[in-house]
Amino acid sequence: MGEELIPWVEVNTWICTACGLCCKGYRVPLKMDEYARITGRYGLGVVEVGLGKVYLRHGFEDRCIFQHPVMGRWACTIQDIKPLACKLFPFRVLSKPVYRRGDGSEYIYRGRIFHIYLDPNCEGIILGKPSERFVTLVLPEVVELGLGVRWKQRLTTSKYISWTPP
Ligand code: SF4
Ligand code: SF4
Repeated sequence: MGEELIPWVEVNTWICTACGLCCKGYRVPLKMDEYARITGRYGLGVVEVGLGKVYLRHGFEDRCIFQHPVMGRWACTIQDIKPLACKLFPFRVLSKPVYRRGDGSEYIYRGRIFHIYLDPNCEGIILGKPSERFVTLVLPEVVELGLGVRWKQRLTTSKYISWTPP
């Protein structure tokens, strides 16, 4: 971990393979409304406090307690109330460039300038010239999630695995 973020312009596309890496090790901070929704359903035992923030608790193998193995892949068992940080991974939507202006991160959505990067630790990233689908469908969904104007994920979640509660 800790490698340089990848500006979106270097990415052909991204498809989540449900490898589960992002739910292992990473700590997911909760916003107040997320905390209320998740603890309201599952109780206080699913969260932990650290450095003034509340996080989802981790368990076996340092995996988020809501991660569940399915046919050799990993599924999130709280898809309907998944925190925003989880919905956005591996994307980062920022108001300023991380490296420098013109680093390939600039993305214009409805006249507003954003800077979008991807976390290189995600195995679903395919480098290359950005595909039309990535630019015109996936990235707008990422920005809308980040802005809070979209709740439901369509292209920013895995198509490999779906989880139906028992
Ligand atoms: S977002 Fe990336 S790291 Fe996380 S499960 Fe999907 S492919 Fe793996
Ligand atoms: S809430 Fe779901 S997506 Fe987020 S870390 Fe836990 S298992 Fe992964």
